[in-house]
Amino acid sequence: MPKPKLLLADHSIEILQTITNAPLATKYQIETVRTGPECLSKIHEFKPDLIYMDMMLPQMHSIEILKKIKEEPELSKIGVIIGSFQIMIQNYHSVIDNGADYFLEKPFDPDFFFSLVEKFFDKALEPVPFALHHASESDILSCYNPIASTHSSYIRFWGTRGSNPVSGPEYVKHGGNTCSLEVTYEGETVIIDAGTGIRQLGETLGEKDKINLFIGHTHWDHITGIPFFKPLYQKNCDVTIWSPVGFEQSTKKLFSNMLAYAYFPVRLDEMHSKLSFKELRDSKPIHIGKITIETHYTNHPGPTFGFKITTPSKKIGYITDNEMLIGFHGNPNEITLDHPKLKPHLDLIEFLKDCDTVIHEAQYFPSEYHTKVGWGHSSIPNATALIKHLSCKEWIVTHHDPAHKDYDLQVKNQVHQDVLKECNIDCLFQLAYDGLIIPI
Ligand SMILES: [Zn+2]
Ligand SMILES: [Zn+2]
Repeated sequence: MPKPKLLLADHSIEILQTITNAPLATKYQIETVRTGPECLSKIHEFKPDLIYMDMMLPQMHSIEILKKIKEEPELSKIGVIIGSFQIMIQNYHSVIDNGADYFLEKPFDPDFFFSLVEKFFDKALEPVPFALHHASESDILSCYNPIASTHSSYIRFWGTRGSNPVSGPEYVKHGGNTCSLEVTYEGETVIIDAGTGIRQLGETLGEKDKINLFIGHTHWDHITGIPFFKPLYQKNCDVTIWSPVGFEQSTKKLFSNMLAYAYFPVRLDEMHSKLSFKELRDSKPIHIGKITIETHYTNHPGPTFGFKITTPSKKIGYITDNEMLIGFHGNPNEITLDHPKLKPHLDLIEFLKDCDTVIHEAQYFPSEYHTKVGWGHSSIPNATALIKHLSCKEWIVTHHDPAHKDYDLQVKNQVHQDVLKECNIDCLFQLAYDGLIIPI
């Protein structure tokens, strides 16, 4: 009696060999093919009793072959087992609903395979209902499930807008709060700038007994959140406000004026915290826990400081308002260390040169800068010229122009990347957004 005929179609030689080398294989006459078209022509030539096909045969899907088999009367009696690694209910249904005898999950054991073959020849092969393999409780417990690290030391941008707060659907990605930066190192918190972002920051501080707030300069975008800073209303909180010596009036006087009843219902002297004002002096380091703050004048209208934040793990420069290379509209590659336009900034370069991360504004596209010379802010290429003379590993741009919507900032990001590439500067770059946290 002739042996029953078995056609095996699978692109994997390993699977074909596993089946053909199994002891039970000797009971059958077996042919193997590796592609869909080969399978189809072998069906006509070999006339098998049973076909095993991988579902995803190269060049022709096995469902297409299955349909052809079932359409032709002289082939329609051929048994079909379709195997697949893609164990999904949709695949199961397309196999069974199109007339196959069995949907075989891969990988499979050759003994199991031949038990199906024997059932077929005994006319006892039936498809089994589809069953998803649900993970058991112990499977779930042993799953790889990494949890996000929490950091006790980080900087967080609570406001990244310059000049004026903004809101609306065009600003959802980067946010609209004006500048405020939280620096937390092992539980000690220092705040730089009191733009509108400080309101939300104040909500998260709980019952701190000591707050040090540094203000780089007293333009509106850096102080306008002050009346809404929660710790100022907390009885047991010592709030120290550090700011440069004003040209016109002290910061205490300025805040008292700003909180006159005509503008706000609570006066400065009615706030409950123990409030003190301290003057910032250029290049005199201030130590707060393990955080050291140093300051340096920047090129901006009025007395304005940039900061260097030093912690045991990282040095960070934070310069929100600084016009580099005033009136320069050329390529930053022209700005060599001895270029006359760079002379006024050599001290700042010295100040920032050991920083790992530099946060520095670049408020304008080159085309915008033509009409904004002397406003105290840098163009993208001019800020890049500063970075070119530093050795930082990372540059983060903050103090975004209120006119720049999310789409504009996306374009700006690309211009930054292009200019950095042209200047051959190898550092990480990103535009800050409200809520950005950088572990330190
Ligand atoms: Zn500003
Ligand atoms: Zn300013």
